[in-house]
Amino acid sequence: MKKIAVLTSGGDAPGMNAAVRAVTRGALAKGWAVMGVRNGYAGLLADHFDPLQARDVGGIIQSGGTVLGSARCPEFAQPPGRAKALSNLSNRGIEALVVIGGNGSQSGSASLAREGFPAVGVPSTIDNDLYGNDVSIGCDTAINVTLEAVDRLRTTASSHQRAFAVETMGRNCGYIALMAGIAGGAEVIALPEQEMQPAEVAERLRAAYQRGKTHALAVIAEGAKCGVHELMQYYGAHRRSIGFDLRVTRLGHVVRGGIPSAADRVLATRLGAAAVDTLAAGKHGVLVGIIRGEALVTPLAEITGRMRPADASLLELARVMAM
Ligand code: ADP
Repeated sequence: MKKIAVLTSGGDAPGMNAAVRAVTRGALAKGWAVMGVRNGYAGLLADHFDPLQARDVGGIIQSGGTVLGSARCPEFAQPPGRAKALSNLSNRGIEALVVIGGNGSQSGSASLAREGFPAVGVPSTIDNDLYGNDVSIGCDTAINVTLEAVDRLRTTASSHQRAFAVETMGRNCGYIALMAGIAGGAEVIALPEQEMQPAEVAERLRAAYQRGKTHALAVIAEGAKCGVHELMQYYGAHRRSIGFDLRVTRLGHVVRGGIPSAADRVLATRLGAAAVDTLAAGKHGVLVGIIRGEALVTPLAEITGRMRPADASLLELARVMAM
């Protein structure tokens, strides 16, 4: 191996930069040249590459977002787009590509692998919905940002008899909501992975006050079947019988901004280096992920097109702890 390229794709996640740094320095340590691709797959199509040296990736381990840029690139999902990308990679003498990104991005790397180009995926998404790893880069930071909001809202919820609902990101996966809900001692957690009606959320919040609590707080995943929109409508229609107001906070993109946590930086560093080691061992067409503490590889063909749900059995634990 003489020359590889690295890109970040899809939704940005805190820790992507630490992964770019680890891939770059890991590869340089083996004597390879490294090219950074700008703006994900869009840069592959536009032939937008820059050489990366050790100093180019200095001072980025602590920054969120991605210094390489990211973009959605629908053309890449079509064969002519990928043919253009493959021709640009070949013209530059690039022998392998490391793709740092989430579910969609790894479908892209799987397509490249299927078409014969050596690609290795590094799981990076706040949603933590990828198979082939226990936890993806960015989701620890997103949980901590959500948790901080939950803790702050609990203080104000305790001062007034009001119910609070916090909506957090995660697309169709409830992992962030589940973890932040457990860590924040939420009275109710609503996930896409489970059925729940607005009436049940309202009843559980009311019951928390009846048990003598001074606050009642629900953490709602953005993809939950009982979303904040349905909840607000329900509270609007039943204000009198419920007896207290609901205040809703939608965290939105705040959840994935800011500096990456220590856990995300270490995870990204381990996975970036593991991606390089995987290529050095002659393996590709795989995702590197931490599974039960170990960096392991899973064929990209096995993980794409699937979504790993949050472990809804933990909801029972959360329910007991909210007694
Ligand atoms: P994420 O990686 O965060 O899930 P997206 O779903 O937006 O983000 O995917 C990022 C990019 O990956 C897309 O813009 C597209 O270029 C590429 N991609 C997504 N799905 C496919 C696919 N099935 N085949 C090839 N490329 C894909």
